[in-house]
Amino acid sequence: MSLMEKRNRAVFIDRDGTIARDVPYCSRPEDFEMFAGVPEAIRTLNRNGFKVVVITNQSGVARGYFTEETLGRIHDKMLADLQREGARIDGIYYCPHHPDENCECRKPGTALLRLAGRDLDIDMGRSYMIGDMVQDIEAGRAAGCRTIFVTNGGKLPASSRGFAPDAVTGTFSEAVNWILEER
Ligand SMILES: [Mg+2]
Ligand SMILES: [Zn+2]
Repeated sequence: MSLMEKRNRAVFIDRDGTIARDVPYCSRPEDFEMFAGVPEAIRTLNRNGFKVVVITNQSGVARGYFTEETLGRIHDKMLADLQREGARIDGIYYCPHHPDENCECRKPGTALLRLAGRDLDIDMGRSYMIGDMVQDIEAGRAAGCRTIFVTNGGKLPASSRGFAPDAVTGTFSEAVNWILEER
């Protein structure tokens, strides 16, 4: 190992509404559907040396809408759908808690980002968070990453103190293109 050895760069991505159709409290693998172009964009990140890590709030677990086992089956489907297209995810981190629990892992909390950063030896200052909610942007900024807000045809959030993304794009694929042009 040389002294110049670089730590990993990552692209942290929100799940619902960012890479997949936002089905409220999605509880069935067959309802989980990724947006067009997502596998190709993730494959591009893989090939450019980025770790790709999903960071997702899943309070449906605490609310009793689905179990962690069901969530695991949904994620297995996501990974299988991606693998079929030659795309890979390096980690999936989720918060199963209810907002009232005030945990540190539910975005805009940064506990999951920091945990993934340690697990995968990630240089947060050279990494990115992509999401479709103010909380994603707040969490990414607080963890020291650059942030990209994806509208997916929707509107920008009404003015919010924590909302200061480095870029705004229409789709996840465009966000990935922005990252690759910036580096
Ligand atoms: Mg979302
Ligand atoms: Zn949590």
